[in-house]
Formats: sequence, C-alpha cells, structure tokens
Amino acid sequence: MKDFSQKKRIVIKIGSHSLVHPRTGRIDYIKMERLAMEVADIKNRGLDVCLVSSGAMAVGRQILGVSQKSDSLPENQMHASIGQARLMSVYQKFFTEYNILCGQVLMTKNTMIDNLSRKNAQNAFDKLFEAGAIPVVNNNDTVSTYEIQFGDNDTLSAIVTSLIGADLLIILTDIDGLYSADPRDDENARLIRYVDRIDDKLMKMASDRPGSSDGTGGMLTKLRAARIATAAGADMIIASGADVSILHRIFENNYTGTFFESHYDEDFDLISVAEEVY
Ligand code: GLU
Repeated sequence: MKDFSQKKRIVIKIGSHSLVHPRTGRIDYIKMERLAMEVADIKNRGLDVCLVSSGAMAVGRQILGVSQKSDSLPENQMHASIGQARLMSVYQKFFTEYNILCGQVLMTKNTMIDNLSRKNAQNAFDKLFEAGAIPVVNNNDTVSTYEIQFGDNDTLSAIVTSLIGADLLIILTDIDGLYSADPRDDENARLIRYVDRIDDKLMKMASDRPGSSDGTGGMLTKLRAARIATAAGADMIIASGADVSILHRIFENNYTGTFFESHYDEDFDLISVAEEVY
C-alpha cells in the first residue's frame, strides 16, 4: 500500500467529458464544484496542487450551439478561446467558495522547448504556489496550431509534472484505469491495479480509442504520459473522473484505479521529451 500522505506537490488532470453532462455537453456544475472542493481539501492537507483541465473547446462549442469539432482550425481556436474563458470563470467561482485562489496558465510546445520561456513558466508556477494559488493549466489552443491538431492534455499533464517537480500525477478519465483488454469489447477484460514498469507489451494492450468525442486522449496517450511522469520521478494514477470524490479516497488509500510506480531516470530530458511527443 502506498502512503500518499507524504506527497508534496501533485498534478490532477481532468478530461473534457468529465466536466460536462454527456447528453447535452453542458457544464456539470455539481461535478465542477465537487472538484474545486476536493482540490481545496488536498491543498488543506498541505500539498501544492496543479490542475490540468481540458474542456475549452467542448465548452466553447456548447456555448455557441455547435455539436461537433470543426474542420476549420480558426473556428476550433475561436471555440477554445470562448470556452476557456467560461471554464475559468466557473473554476474561479467555485474555488472562491472554498477560499482558494486560482491562476490560469496556458502553454504551447514552445513554452517547453524555448529555454527562456520554460524558465519563465517554471518561475511563474513557483510564484503561484508560493501565493497558495492553484495553477489551472491548458494548452493555449487559441494561438497554437500543432497542439490543437495533435497535442493532448495527458501528455501536457506529464510534462507539467516534470516541469514543476511534482511527485504524483492523477489522470481522471472516463474509465477506471488500464484494462488487460478493451472492456467495451471484451467481458474478460480485467483492471490492472499496479504497474511497475511500462513495457512494450503494456503499450500494445492500451486501446487508442478515446471514450468520447470531446477529448483527444485514449489509453495510449495515458501510458505515454505515465512513461514521462514516472521517468521524471513521479508516481502516476489513472482513475475514473465519474465521481471526483475519488481524489480524497486516493489519499485514504481506498480507490479503484491503476497505479504506476515512479522510476526516476537520470537521463530523463524534459526538452527532448517535449520536442518528441508534445
Ligand atoms: N486542450 C483541449 C481543450 O481544452 C483538450 C485536449 C485534450 O482533451 O487532450 O479543449
């Protein structure tokens, strides 16, 4: 059993589908408020918390009454711009209820590969933590082109984990962990609760089909994220975001999910990782 009480800094990643009602695509306020409460409570345990939240494009589309991702990049960028602003206003409202400050951090690939930008981002994160604030991170989808087409927030969350020296990454998604086969097709699929090392066999096992049309990440992107986070020296958990109270249950060691053991790799180089996969 892992003792999470000693963790100092954690990153929580939540996917688009976990923030909206599946039938309407509209914001699930109860869930977002619950998420803010859970995050505030983890902060009260004495940890620094960073939230990587998707949902900008999904929320933007919903506000504008658009049902699907557009083929036009500028339109998707416009959806992201409108949705990100709404998303932050909702986070701000709920974090304020729990007396927590939050700050928005929008990143692109260049933030990571340009030495000055990366250092500046690191300094900004440090100052946000010093101020007791929760950084709320997303891709800067409105001005980036690469990320909106190929990027995903699973990888972004692992990169942020390394950048800020977090010791735990929790990815909340629409399934309660990594299964031996796709449980949607195979009734014998079983949940893998513990992963020591991520080998090629495990990568093959991961289905690359996202569970919903809103997010971009399937299980494969989560395993790639796990490779990055564990090599950077952090443990990682994949768990279901259906009920975000799983967050405090993780700290009580009473959760269902897949745990990936950290294996710090001396040769880990964040810049080459960002160049290659993000
Ligand atoms: N950055 C995208 C958004 O906020 C989501 C990307 C992802 O889900 O991986 O809409």
